Amino acid sequence: MSLMKHSQEYRNSNLVHGVIAEIARTVTRPWVIMEICGGQTHAIMRYGLDQLLPSEIELVHGPGCPVCVTSLELIDKAIVIASKPDIIFASYGDMLRVPGTHMDLFSVRAAGGDIRVVYSPLDAMKLAQQNPEKQVVFFGIGFETTAPANCMSVIQASRIKLKNYSMLVSHVRVPPAISAILSSADNRIQGFLAAGHVCAVMGYWEYPAIAHQYHVPIVVTGFEPLDILQGILMTVNQLETGQAEVENAYSRVVTKDGNLAAQAIIKQVFMNCDRKWRGIGNIPNSGWCIRDEYADYDSEKRFSVSNMISEESDQCIAGQILQGLRKPFECSAFARKCTPENPLGATMVSSEGACSAYYKYAQKEPHAPSI
Ligand code: SF4
Repeated sequence: MSLMKHSQEYRNSNLVHGVIAEIARTVTRPWVIMEICGGQTHAIMRYGLDQLLPSEIELVHGPGCPVCVTSLELIDKAIVIASKPDIIFASYGDMLRVPGTHMDLFSVRAAGGDIRVVYSPLDAMKLAQQNPEKQVVFFGIGFETTAPANCMSVIQASRIKLKNYSMLVSHVRVPPAISAILSSADNRIQGFLAAGHVCAVMGYWEYPAIAHQYHVPIVVTGFEPLDILQGILMTVNQLETGQAEVENAYSRVVTKDGNLAAQAIIKQVFMNCDRKWRGIGNIPNSGWCIRDEYADYDSEKRFSVSNMISEESDQCIAGQILQGLRKPFECSAFARKCTPENPLGATMVSSEGACSAYYKYAQKEPHAPSI
């Protein structure tokens, strides 16, 4: 079976409308459900799934977009490092347009900085091997999904004694973010769709303790329309019957234990640390940092960038959007002062950001479903 045919099955209009009818039969009162991942947000907006659901169900958009949550301070550090002479700064393309306090990485490149767009940490390692006279810094952003490849690059660099490669790490973890959202006094979320690709790596063994502590259902969910609706149906079923369990609606990809080999690689290179999330603030124990054994590959240590004073745009409410407290429409700058060409915040830049999803698919509300 071709990949295309396989994915089309999860977009089948009859099946989609069948699950929506089942959700409508099940729901009896309002519920607020958060999809964690920006990829899920884009699928919801792209297919207009939010418009097809019964009005009792409100979907709000979570912080699962690595470009969006990379702290302003780390963007400013990236800008300082990338501006230094004899540096090649290697990054995913989206990060170049994310606003720092005073400028973005594109501006650094326009001013002569050597900034390269790469598609993996291995590309950055190759740059280091090809340019031994330069220091190559890879901007290692992401959640649990990108961590194994980033950690492998550090292990490999250490094995081959590659001295001019290091990583500016901005790794974050989903479970502490869910706990932080649920423990906030303003919390509105009653159920979660957990991010399937994160759970493919990490499993979902960390989630039952959260579901039970805060009494919220958490359903591991994929990214196609049927996956998302199935996750919503399972969440609504639990909410309506007063349950708060962890269920897996993405069992074709995810197991409870996850990928143990990938987890071992992460554990070899990273250790838990506190991490600032853009617009949200510090979440204890929510990040990964490079272990002391691999400190030589930690760009923050190699280039001693500290004492940054970073300031967010006072118009950007992305932090509130990422916690499910506001919607992009409620930002006065949305589609006016802030557009993908001139973003004020990272959620308008990223291909997984909630503001860019609304801009692309739903500038007007209600928007038309396309499935
Ligand atoms: S529209 Fe722009 S300024 Fe407003 S919250 Fe989104 S990224 Fe921030």
